[in-house]
Amino acid sequence: MKLDSGNVLVQELEDLRERLFATLHLPEQRDPVNVYLFSDEASYRYYMNTTWQNLPPRRAYFVGTTRELAVYSFLSSKVQEDLRHEFTHGLLHGSLKTVPLWLDEGLAEYFEVNPDIPGAVHAEHVREWETAQQENWSPNLFRLEMLSDFRDMTQRDYAEAWGWVHYMLQTSDETANVLLQYLAGLETSRTPPRMLTSLETAVPTYFNDVQAHVVRMQNTQPSHASR
Ligand SMILES: [Zn+2]
Repeated sequence: MKLDSGNVLVQELEDLRERLFATLHLPEQRDPVNVYLFSDEASYRYYMNTTWQNLPPRRAYFVGTTRELAVYSFLSSKVQEDLRHEFTHGLLHGSLKTVPLWLDEGLAEYFEVNPDIPGAVHAEHVREWETAQQENWSPNLFRLEMLSDFRDMTQRDYAEAWGWVHYMLQTSDETANVLLQYLAGLETSRTPPRMLTSLETAVPTYFNDVQAHVVRMQNTQPSHASR
């Protein structure tokens, strides 16, 4: 279906683009991102199955090829969140040379949250951290940075990636600068270094800090008590 520029979905993505470029200090967008929105799930599924045979079924996709950066989805109750997520991938790939998988997903999860709710955090991921910590899990950026196939990423990996990004953007200038400088390096490099090395140097207490940060988010979640 064709949406005109006044459509609320289009407007939201324009807003997201502004917010993302301002937050991440990205260079000017090099390549456009085309958004293909199907009016119903059946035609979306049919198109995706016949066009991209190897993709597991999901509500939305970003596919970047040398020919085009494209977002695919359909009108559903989650369409805004889905489009914010996939469009974030598109914007990152449209302005950087490469984006490591964990960071690509962490930023997409960060920007998929509805920006109209002040102080909103990703409630699902905050709960996942809580569950994980009860199982004696702890975050491991070293491991996360080694992931290279999105099919291997679990919900917990998505939650962890979101947690690192939220911690780095929302805690201090030091943590934010590590992320921003890392992103600046991706403007020119196709083989990104590990971010962990610069984070360790800039913020030696990062390991305890990221966990304390997400615990603080748990305590500010209104849904916390009922779950
Ligand atoms: Zn994604």
